Amino acid sequence: MSNAEAIIALLGALYLSECWIWVRHGSVVFRAFRSGNYKVVGPSSVLGNHIGGLVFLNPLPPFGTSFICHRFPFSIDTAGTSSLAVQSLATTGREQQKGKYVSFAAIQGMWASGGTILINGQPFASFGESELATEYANLLVTIWKAPIDRRKTALDAMLSKLTDTRTLRERVDVYRRSSRQLRITCHAMFALLLVLPIASLWFPRMRGYWMEWGIVTICCLAAIAAYFYVAHKRLLPGATTQRWKALITMVLTPTASVRACDALSRYILTTYDPLAAAALLLGQDAFRRFARRVMLDLANPAIEVDPESSREMRQVEESFRMRLSQALEPLLATKGYSLDEVMRPPVPDNPACLSFCPRCDAQFTVAKGRCADCGGVALHPFQAVAT
Ligand SMILES: [Zn+2]
Repeated sequence: MSNAEAIIALLGALYLSECWIWVRHGSVVFRAFRSGNYKVVGPSSVLGNHIGGLVFLNPLPPFGTSFICHRFPFSIDTAGTSSLAVQSLATTGREQQKGKYVSFAAIQGMWASGGTILINGQPFASFGESELATEYANLLVTIWKAPIDRRKTALDAMLSKLTDTRTLRERVDVYRRSSRQLRITCHAMFALLLVLPIASLWFPRMRGYWMEWGIVTICCLAAIAAYFYVAHKRLLPGATTQRWKALITMVLTPTASVRACDALSRYILTTYDPLAAAALLLGQDAFRRFARRVMLDLANPAIEVDPESSREMRQVEESFRMRLSQALEPLLATKGYSLDEVMRPPVPDNPACLSFCPRCDAQFTVAKGRCADCGGVALHPFQAVAT
C-alpha cells in the first residue's frame, strides 16, 4: 500500500467512525437515510452493552437526518419522585434499574452536576450529558416547588409540554432552515476529504494542487464551524459546553465536520416524548406500529426492574404510568387513530398459536405461561379475547 492509499484508508476509517452514534437504552433514533423517510431505530444489541448501543447513520450524500428522543427518565406524582423509568422503548423488557424514591417533603435542594441530578447532595439520576441533566432537573424543580394543591396541574402542564407537536414541528422547521447552508458545506467537505483523494489515485496530477486543496479545505472547515455555531446557538442557546465540544472536535478531526448536521439535530428533540416526534416524523403505518409498541408497553409493563423497589416507588411508578398514558393518547388522534384501534389484540398466526404476549405481540403454542422476552409478562389466551 502506498503512502497516498494509507492516508485515504485512514481518512475513510476516521469518517466511518463518525457515522456511528451511541444511544442509551430507553432512547430511540428517528433516522432518515434520505429526506422524509424516517424509521425508528433503537440501540444495537450486538454493538452495545447494558447501558446502550450504537446506531449507524447514512454515511453517503445526501446523509439523511437523525433525531434522538428519550423516554421520560423517572416517575413523578404529587407526593414524590422515583428514579425508575416507567417505559421500555425496546421490544425486549425493561433493563434492570436501581431505583430511588424521594418524597418532595424531604427535599432540601436539587440541582444538576456533571450529567447527574443530585437531590439533597445525593445522586438521583444520571444522563451522561450535562445539558440533559439540567433540563430534567429544571422540570423536577418546577414540580417540587409548586404548592401541593397545584402539583397535579404542574405535572399535567409538564407532560403537555413534552407532547406538544406544535412546538416540536416549529423546532424541526427551524432546524431545517438553519441547517440548509451547513448541509451544502458538509457535502463540499465530504468531496474535499474523501471523493477527491480517492479520485487522485487514478489522476495523480491532481496531487500537484495540494496547497490549493488544503486552503479550500480550511476555508470549508471555517464555514462549517461558523454555520454550526450560529445554528446551534439558535436552536440550543443554553448548551454552551455541548456547542464548544462539538466545534473543538470538528477542528481537531475534520472528518467529524462532515457530520455537523447530525451533531446539530441529535439534541434538538431530546426533551420531547418519542411518540410526539413519531407523530410528526413517521408515516401512517410506521406511526401505528410504534404507537402500538408504546401504548402496549405502558398498559402491560415488563415487571420487576428493581427487585428491591419500595411500596412508594411502585405507587409513584403506577401513578406516573397512568398519567403518561393519558397524556400520550391524544397523539394517536393526530394521526387518525383511536386507542382501541391501536391496541387491538392480534389474531393467531396459525391454529397452533394458543396465546400471545400482550406487551410484545409474540405468539405461543401454549395456553398459559409468561413471556421471557418481556421480563415475565403473563400470556393472554386467544380464546379469552374471542369471548
Ligand atoms: Zn413479550
